[in-house]
Amino acid sequence: MPVLVMKFGGTSVANLDRIRRAAKRVGVEVAKGYDVIVVVSAMSGRTNELVGWVEETSPLFDAREYDAVVSSGENVTAGLMALTLQEMDIPARSWQGWQVPVRTTSAHSAARIEEIPPDNITAKFGEGMRVAVVAGFQGISPEGRITTLGRGGSDTTAVAFAAAFGAERCDIYTDVDGVYTTDPRICDKARKLDRISFEEMLELASLGAKVLQTRSVELAMRYNVKLRVLSSFEEQSDEAGTLVCDEEDVMESKPVAGVAYSRDEAKLTLLSVADRPGIAATIFTALSDAGVNVDMIVQNISEEGRTDMTFSCPVGEVARAEAALGRAHEAGELNFAQLVADRGVCKVSVVGIGMRSQSGVAARMFKVLSDEGINIKVITTSEIKISVLIDRKYMELAVQALHDAFDLDRAG
Ligand code: ADP
Ligand code: ASP
Ligand code: MG
Repeated sequence: MPVLVMKFGGTSVANLDRIRRAAKRVGVEVAKGYDVIVVVSAMSGRTNELVGWVEETSPLFDAREYDAVVSSGENVTAGLMALTLQEMDIPARSWQGWQVPVRTTSAHSAARIEEIPPDNITAKFGEGMRVAVVAGFQGISPEGRITTLGRGGSDTTAVAFAAAFGAERCDIYTDVDGVYTTDPRICDKARKLDRISFEEMLELASLGAKVLQTRSVELAMRYNVKLRVLSSFEEQSDEAGTLVCDEEDVMESKPVAGVAYSRDEAKLTLLSVADRPGIAATIFTALSDAGVNVDMIVQNISEEGRTDMTFSCPVGEVARAEAALGRAHEAGELNFAQLVADRGVCKVSVVGIGMRSQSGVAARMFKVLSDEGINIKVITTSEIKISVLIDRKYMELAVQALHDAFDLDRAG
């Protein structure tokens, strides 16, 4: 029988009533003749609560124990979903990551899926099980310990299962009815897209649009998974939601397809470091060894052999960055006058494959921000995106102004 993957995010399994509604949707697909793999997240808020408990118990926690704790939310919803389906007379069974098994790397808290052997679940489908309810977000390391895939990782679980089982489609059920031109929660004029290309979705996700985890889009692109985002709160047809697909299948031709933001960024500047070969390597090796995710990097003009180096990272990693650079300074590997941290910035980006062929997008973006009196602190660009770092207090204003300026509320 054809296989369908259906993933339900946190708000879609937030309580028993929501789980029943999701189970009904699953029942509709089972009735059509699909064997269904349901991937569930933890109930909304639960993973945050678990992370909070870990941090309170042990600020510099052992990531293996972090994974042991934070993976547990998905176990609860997987079992409850299987029970709900059984109550509807649908043969269902829950599967934790290690039971499948979902084999991952041992990078605890940010593991990557390496392999999902389909044999165990396929055998059970052969014996009459109609729904395999898989706990998302978790896997098992080569050492046999539980791992997790990074926040939002259930999306990646779902796409990886769709690839491993050759599923007809991977449906991501969430609390919005598709992918929008920007986050509909901060811009009233955001417009739902019927289709979006893999490339644009990948950029939007990696620049902060959390509707899909970045890695899930990468996997869907690599394995050609038919990926759809839709709402679990409304009755759905086969055409509902947003299809993430190849560029050729998207009709819109605007230079900018969407606006993304990342709220909690920080900008750090090392003042007066020696301008000589090897300095950047020393700085960024120290940061990488400390697990700091550096994003933008700017090196200023040098004067008398000394320069300033600016970079950005998530606000939550500033303390680690300061400690790592402080250690390198004390060890004599690095010499700087001062380290200045600005914790009050955010990143706003415009994304679109149309930028490859249309010029002037950057100039337009900077003009819009300047008309709103917003100062740009750092800029980075790539072929299909432009990102700026600005004061966090202007984030909503910048997103809305850019959405207006690039006419994203209208199709075309
Ligand atoms: P789930 O719990 O179902 O995984 P998430 O909270 O992870 O849901 O992702 C859905 C949220 O993503 C939406 O509620 C919305 O606020 C946010 N979002 C950000 N950017 C976009 C966008 N471009 N389109 C749709 N939703 C977006
Ligand atoms: N529950 C996990 C999280 O909140 C994984 C997910 O929902 O995708 O990050
Ligand atoms: Mg999510």
